Amino acid sequence: MTAAATDMLGVIDVQPTFMPGGELPVADGEAVVPAINRLLARFEHAFATQDWHPPGHLSFASSHPGRAPYSEIELPYGRQTLWPDHALQGSRNAALHPGLDQSRIEAVIRKGFRPSIDSYSAFFENDRKTVTGLDGWLRARGVQRLFLAGLATDFCVAWSAEDAVALGYEVMILQDCCRSIGLPLAAGGTTLDAARSRLLARGVKFATG
Ligand SMILES: [Zn+2]
Repeated sequence: MTAAATDMLGVIDVQPTFMPGGELPVADGEAVVPAINRLLARFEHAFATQDWHPPGHLSFASSHPGRAPYSEIELPYGRQTLWPDHALQGSRNAALHPGLDQSRIEAVIRKGFRPSIDSYSAFFENDRKTVTGLDGWLRARGVQRLFLAGLATDFCVAWSAEDAVALGYEVMILQDCCRSIGLPLAAGGTTLDAARSRLLARGVKFATG
């Protein structure tokens, strides 16, 4: 794959908080760092997202007495998985991973900083209405194809991809440069299986970097 001038690489949540030893570890999460650095060398343009929560954020299980991490709750904007406290603003584990080559990252979109809305997608917060501004930034720069890599495939990468196709971009998930959480679902399968079938049905493509 050769990147064109109208291609953009989106580096999703490559933060130690989502890696082994972090607060919300994704298995093998640190493996995306060298893989994404190789991608960054091939793209002319890239942005990163950074999960960035204040203490007591509504997505934290600790904000809902009696609720366990990884359980689900109904919130005013819809169903929300509750997470361990993670990506705390200003903490070392919320920084972009120190091994990530940021020399080609042109913008960093922070998300999840509003105390009462979570934000998985790089485009909209979880109410699916509040925008991050990324769409306008991409359009102003003439971006047509979006390639996504990072953490986690079944949450922030998936939600970003889903919004991007709905907004009219051609979207490719570089799956060997992502890792997933893979929570089991009551209906069978995992959140990764569900995300893959949902995304394929909407026209998101999966490829290797
Ligand atoms: Zn978060």
